[in-house]
Amino acid sequence: MLLRTRFAPSPTGLLHVGNAYSALQCQAWAEQQHADLILRIEDIDHTRCRAEFATAMLDDLRWLGFDWQGEICYQSRRLQLYRNAIGRLREMGVIYPCFCTRKQIAAEVARMASAPHAEDAVAAYPGLCRRLTAAEQQQRMQQQPFAWRLDAAKAMQAAGEGLIWREASGEMHPVMVDDDLVIGRKDIGVSYHLAVVVDDAAQAITHIIRGADLAASTAVQRLLQQLLGLPEPIYIHHPLLLDGGGERLAKRNHATTLSSLRRMGVQASALRAFLRTDSPPCWPFEGAAADASEAAILRMLGASGDDLP
Ligand code: GLU
Repeated sequence: MLLRTRFAPSPTGLLHVGNAYSALQCQAWAEQQHADLILRIEDIDHTRCRAEFATAMLDDLRWLGFDWQGEICYQSRRLQLYRNAIGRLREMGVIYPCFCTRKQIAAEVARMASAPHAEDAVAAYPGLCRRLTAAEQQQRMQQQPFAWRLDAAKAMQAAGEGLIWREASGEMHPVMVDDDLVIGRKDIGVSYHLAVVVDDAAQAITHIIRGADLAASTAVQRLLQQLLGLPEPIYIHHPLLLDGGGERLAKRNHATTLSSLRRMGVQASALRAFLRTDSPPCWPFEGAAADASEAAILRMLGASGDDLP
C-alpha cells in the first residue's frame, strides 16, 4: 500500500519553531517509511488567514529543507467539496442549522449552570436550535445567518457502535462525541473538522502526523469520516515543543518565528540539529529540545559554533 502523509499549516501568521518541528516530524516519518508527503495550506478561514502568510510559509519551509511531493493543495479553492459533504450530512439528518449568537449561547449556559442537576449539563452547546421544528428551521433559514451543527447523539447513533480511532503506537481510542460541534461556520460556511476530513480522504492520506494539541479533534473527525463513508487514517500525535516556562509554542504567546531566526543569520541545518530531526531520519524522535524558547535556541546555536553571524 502506498503510504502518504501531509503537513497542513494554517496561514494565520508566520511559521514558528513548533510548526517547523511538526513539519520535520512529517518529513522524517515519510523518509523512513518511503511515503509520500503532501503540503496542504488550510486557508478556509478568510477572517484569519492571509495570502502573504502563505507565501512566507512556503519560503520558510523551503529554507528549512522541507520537501513535499506534487501540487500544493489550497483549501480555499475547494469550498464546493466541503459544501457537498455538508449536503450529504444534511440528507442523513445528522446536522441542523443553528441561529444562535455567542451571547445567546453564553446566557443559556449560565442559566443551565444555576439549574438543579447542572452537573449533568456537560455539552458545551446547550442545544437551543436542536429543538426547532422543521418548519421553524425553514422559516429562519430564509431570514437569518446560520451555522451547521452536528447532532452529536444522532451522529453517534448513525455511526454505529464501537467506533474507534487508532494511534500508530497501537493505542485505540473510543470515539465519544457529546457536543453539537459546528461543522459549517456561520461566517465561512464550512469548518476545520469537515475540510480536513474531506481532504485527507481526497488525497488518500494514510497517516496523519500532527501535534498532540490536535488529539482532542480526532474523535469528531473520525466520526465524520465514518458518516461520510471515508477511509480510516492512522494517527501519530507528536509531543509539543515547550518554551522555558513550560508553555507550548504558539502564535499567541509569540513563539520564535523562522523568519526572525533567518534574520539573525541562523542556518537551517543548525535549527534542524537543535530540533534533533536531522538525517539520518530516525523515528520516533527522541528527547526533542525541552526548551525551545528563542533564548534557548540562540544559546544552543551560539554554543554549537559558527552558526551565528
Ligand atoms: N491546520 C491545522 C493547524 O495548523 C492542522 C490540521 C491538521 O493537521 O489536522 O493547526
